Amino acid sequence: MERRHARYPFLDDARHAVGNAEFDLQSLAADERVRERASERVERALDDGTVGEPSRATRVELLSYPLARVLVSLVDEHVLTRKYARAEAATAHDRLADAENRRELKSARTERLTSEELLAEFDLATDVHTDGDGYRVAVGAYLPLAADMRGEEWRLVNRALSDGEVSISTTDLDELLRKAIERRVAEGLPLSVPDGIADALESTVAEIRERLAELDLTRDIDTVVPDRFPPCMKALLDSVQKGEHLPHHSRFAITSFLTSIGMSTDEIIDLYMVNPGFGEDITRYQTDHIRGETSPTEYSPPSCATMQSYGDCVNMDDRCETISHPMAYYEQALDDADEELSDWRDDEVDADDEAEADA
Ligand code: SF4
Repeated sequence: MERRHARYPFLDDARHAVGNAEFDLQSLAADERVRERASERVERALDDGTVGEPSRATRVELLSYPLARVLVSLVDEHVLTRKYARAEAATAHDRLADAENRRELKSARTERLTSEELLAEFDLATDVHTDGDGYRVAVGAYLPLAADMRGEEWRLVNRALSDGEVSISTTDLDELLRKAIERRVAEGLPLSVPDGIADALESTVAEIRERLAELDLTRDIDTVVPDRFPPCMKALLDSVQKGEHLPHHSRFAITSFLTSIGMSTDEIIDLYMVNPGFGEDITRYQTDHIRGETSPTEYSPPSCATMQSYGDCVNMDDRCETISHPMAYYEQALDDADEELSDWRDDEVDADDEAEADA
């Protein structure tokens, strides 16, 4: 078992090292140090997008990785799987850069993993060539790698293409390799976990679920696409816009959802204003309170369980079966969109511009 395996546990070599060590999952689940480090990997992924400080014991560090994947599988929430895979990839990326900066040191040399080795790991060695300033990637290899990248710059139409190869910078290559690591970590998740192991990990899984429920799932979202809202929020928004009277908990649910996806108080008022009798003053007061401007707390929208208990969970669809929070529904719906989504706020600005031009 080498230190390098523990630093980059997604590598095939590391997987073989775990296999050769002949540890069974039952004994890993019972090993307190491995279980704690595995749990830390997952919880830190939720908290700050890292997997935390590595254990000084190579054995614990390496074995905590397969157990962390088991924990993620048992929780089985799309948002957790994605955040965990991203955190493992980000940590590997940081370690690669750190080892590169310390390459003169003997300890760093033994842990170092070069870009060439990573390309070989992902079967890309023959598809990627350096061209002095940057790299050239065979278009057949570029397209699947870039498919999950966010940003117009990754679209093939925005890239220089010649002789079936796409030009990319060194930074781009780093980003593509990070995405390849992320995919490798998420590969095969959720795993099928035997009941005995699930029972042994029950309390650890419950803690992760609790952390997930408490988490402010709004950090990454600043996109308003009403078509992608969860069915409960679509129904509540529809009621507000029709001028129907909503009980306090329902109004709190829709307003906290809208603040959580990045809408300002004025934008929420604009969205509600389809119905002229909606009460601007009370909406402004409630929205400022929920977003924490006139109160000590920034409120998060209720979980699905709370929505169900108040009778606000309506029109459930297939995606609802896979999530436990309306924010997770929305985040997943945005991620799964095939086409470029248009933000409601941009549409409003365009409509205002057209109206001004017509006047
Ligand atoms: S399951 Fe959750 S997201 Fe779906 S409608 Fe009910 S409360 Fe909304």
